[in-house]
Amino acid sequence: MHVVLIPGDGIGPEVTAATQRVVAAAGVPISWVVAHAGAACAERFGDLLPPETLDLIRRYRVALKGPCTTPVGEGFRSINVRLRQELDLYASVRPVRTLPGIQVPFQDVDLIVVRENTEGLYSGLEHVVVAGVVESLRVVTQRAAERIVRFAFELARREGRAKVTFCHKADVLRLSDGLFLQAARQVAADFPFIEFEERRIDNLCMELALDPTRFDVLVMENLFGDVISDLCAGLVGGLGLVPGANIGSRYAVFEAVHGSAPDIAGKGLANPIACLRSAVLLLDHIGQRTAAARIESAVLRTLQRGVGLTRDLGGDGTTETLTAEIIRHL
Ligand code: ATP
Repeated sequence: MHVVLIPGDGIGPEVTAATQRVVAAAGVPISWVVAHAGAACAERFGDLLPPETLDLIRRYRVALKGPCTTPVGEGFRSINVRLRQELDLYASVRPVRTLPGIQVPFQDVDLIVVRENTEGLYSGLEHVVVAGVVESLRVVTQRAAERIVRFAFELARREGRAKVTFCHKADVLRLSDGLFLQAARQVAADFPFIEFEERRIDNLCMELALDPTRFDVLVMENLFGDVISDLCAGLVGGLGLVPGANIGSRYAVFEAVHGSAPDIAGKGLANPIACLRSAVLLLDHIGQRTAAARIESAVLRTLQRGVGLTRDLGGDGTTETLTAEIIRHL
């Protein structure tokens, strides 16, 4: 089985290498096809996201991606946004669950954030109206709204989840979120066996701070989803732990929630768990369910024992010690 591997920038090469080692130790016969994207790639090849990288993902359909840095400012469109749009990876999926041994305010958090990945304010449509005034367009289409809500319900059905919460700001964004809300209600009617509820995004933030355990599957537009998924990562112990998937009808790209962490890059201090758990989602996606479950439980046992943990988890270990511990628990 071929899987494209994009090491990315900063800690990306470190966490993806650790992930490859664990996957190999679990005996999964994956041939990694290395492709490049990000700031380091731009320096070497003059392109943040070379067409060859997109071609490889189109060819092999599945990729594991390290964090890629997009230089801030004019002239660069975010690599992540481009990748999602070019490959129509319309659903971002982030499972968020309390992990053993991680001290957090709430136990028993177990929710999935589903985010529309191609439209909203991230459509990349910005222009200067006159000097000092800039407009960014927030695009919502019936088609994209329907398909992301349907995706969330299908996911809920597959995973045996009881409830889908649609999050919006339709009281203010009357037309755009109004359209999204109507689409959500229509799709929900096709899934009468799954509870459907609606929340305003500001209310949702308050409720997540008070008691995140009351939520199951959350679905929302792009910008809200970006913010809420990081908030939810914080609820269960931070960016170093939470995996992510970007899924379309043809291709899927799996990546950790965190960025390139330039402050610790190259020092061997990065926590590889978020990347590794993204690979677990990938293995599940390609039908390697047993290996996926083995790796996930090795991670959980490692966290439970609390040996070899990296600094972000309160330990004094390194990428190496944590990876070795996970492999020992396989
Ligand atoms: P980028 O510009 O690529 O988003 P950033 O530094 O703004 O990078 P993150 O990379 O997400 O954002 O990092 C935020 C903080 O979390 C940093 O202090 C970083 O060191 C820490 N961090 C992120 N990921 C990890 C990880 N896997 N292991 C340890 N610490 C991490």
